[in-house]
Amino acid sequence: MDPDALPLSRAGIDRAAHLRPGGDHLRAALADPATRVLLVSDGAVVTSTGPRVALLEPAQAAHLAGMAGTAGADGTAGTDGTERMDDADDGGWLLLGRGEAGEAYLARRVAQRRPAPPVGVPSDVLVHPVPAGPDPTPERRALPDGLTWTPLRDMGAELSADDAGLATTAVALDGWHARHPRCPRCGARTRVAQSGWTRVCVADASEHYPRTDPAVIMAVVDADDRILLGHAAQWAEGRWSTLAGFVEPGESLEHAVRREVAEEAGVVVGAVSYRGSQPWPFPASLMIGFRATAETTDARADGVELTEVRWFTRGELADAVRAGDVIPPGRASIARALVEEWFGGPLS
Ligand SMILES: [Zn+2]
Repeated sequence: MDPDALPLSRAGIDRAAHLRPGGDHLRAALADPATRVLLVSDGAVVTSTGPRVALLEPAQAAHLAGMAGTAGADGTAGTDGTERMDDADDGGWLLLGRGEAGEAYLARRVAQRRPAPPVGVPSDVLVHPVPAGPDPTPERRALPDGLTWTPLRDMGAELSADDAGLATTAVALDGWHARHPRCPRCGARTRVAQSGWTRVCVADASEHYPRTDPAVIMAVVDADDRILLGHAAQWAEGRWSTLAGFVEPGESLEHAVRREVAEEAGVVVGAVSYRGSQPWPFPASLMIGFRATAETTDARADGVELTEVRWFTRGELADAVRAGDVIPPGRASIARALVEEWFGGPLS
């Protein structure tokens, strides 16, 4: 597997982290017509046909986002002079980096209009690359002809490297802000700093950084060169994919691979080799891909995360995909790449 060829994993623009502190560069970029802005909301970005990420001038982005003016995304002040500390009122601009000519690339967060989940509902559950459902935020502000909200998950395989890098970073940062409006130490509000890359507690000044949760994902292959795939309860009928799971505190990646395969399928894994990684910001995962060698073959689903597991030969998988009995992982996912690496070519 070529890690740089994985969708969403390719290098994007220069992140230019040294330009983040203070927000001066961001404020200057907002006044520069060479700056390009993408609109992001809840896992989706605004695209034009192609698909291409729509890269807008700051004024147009602000207009489309429904803003009255521009505000410092470092949380210090908006143009009306008021302090902006609420997540919904921080200006919503994120500095993603800069291009080869020095032009800035920003993201503008667009508010979600659906209600926040009730307290107690876990917001960070996602392990497997599940297929996309319907657009979760149909009430987002209407767009001019030619522009549309597109879930990143739906188009990740088609985007150019630069577009994918911008969109993946914007979706990941936007999701982090949306889920972390309050200080995990004391519960007070946090304000945005570092041009969108930090949140600071207004009560105790503690700093909080975007989270990325490591998850292992593995092509488990047995001595007969069969691959182990599973079907999860919440997936569409016929959808099969590689096993995956979050890394637990105190675990190495290799241990997490062995534990997850044992828990979900009852199979003992021996050798584990790294194959590549993929940012998967739905909402905050980094998928770390492995090939794992099975030492046992008696596979049974745990009945909790997975309802079915089974071994496939190449011929069996090809026939099942052709017949429509198996829907393989989405083209943007590292799961697809792991399966196709084992398979020896494209599945369909
Ligand atoms: Zn605090």
